Amino acid sequence: MIRISMLAVPVFVFYCAMSFAVFADAFHVSAEPQTIDPGDPFIVRVTGVSNVHQPAASFAGRKLMFLPCGEDCSMAVCSADLVVKPGRYRIAISEGKRKHHATITVRRHLPAVIHLTLPPDKVELNPKDMQRVEREVNLLQSLWAEHSEKMWDGSFLLPMQNEVSAQFGLKRIINDKKVSIHQGIDIRGKEGEQVRASNRGRVVLADELYFGGNTLVISHGMGIFTVYMHLDRFGTNKGVIVSKGDIIGFVGSTGRSTGPHLHFGVKVQDASVNPVKFIDLKL
Ligand SMILES: [Zn+2]
Repeated sequence: MIRISMLAVPVFVFYCAMSFAVFADAFHVSAEPQTIDPGDPFIVRVTGVSNVHQPAASFAGRKLMFLPCGEDCSMAVCSADLVVKPGRYRIAISEGKRKHHATITVRRHLPAVIHLTLPPDKVELNPKDMQRVEREVNLLQSLWAEHSEKMWDGSFLLPMQNEVSAQFGLKRIINDKKVSIHQGIDIRGKEGEQVRASNRGRVVLADELYFGGNTLVISHGMGIFTVYMHLDRFGTNKGVIVSKGDIIGFVGSTGRSTGPHLHFGVKVQDASVNPVKFIDLKL
């Protein structure tokens, strides 16, 4: 009897230590990639959580929106916007009483600068055009506030396979006066060339805007949007659910544009995200 109890004590201690280790390791948080430039997207993955109880977290004032990524796994697509300050950011993630954190480092990034010459009336706006632009800015802001259910289907695609002529984050000095930061990429294209949906989603805007010209916005759910500007014409309508790769419009030079091209943007909630990095995410 004595020999049995002598054995039982260490076995019991070992068992307890094991169960604690399993519990402690079960809730795990990771960010991928851990070092980003302003405007880069990243994924926060939390394992060891039930899909019933969603983790709670925010980054740069935006609530992280989690979706299931397998058994006991939740993930959130996040982004720092272009104006985020360089440095290390700690993202606290909690599920019930359990807390963990992920760390993201935002690098210092010096944007490339180009000088553009545009017709003065497209730069110095008269009061009527100024009012129109304000209305359109508010309209777009109201779109970014919409958080519907996930609609996308796997990773995102570039809407055209042509060369990128102006990168994301480019600082454009217009007529030596106005500074405009490029919040998307410009893709070369011929007038009338087909533009495809980057992913499945609902068309929430197909309208003519002052700067964007014929502009189409697709909501992919969970606060993720793709934006297509300067279209010659639309290939679909507001309210339609489009599939990844569907023809949604044709290249043009409408709005404030210096020649036929597609301006392609990605929004994660209201943050402008680098589309080239975004399509690399394994979603
Ligand atoms: Zn552009």
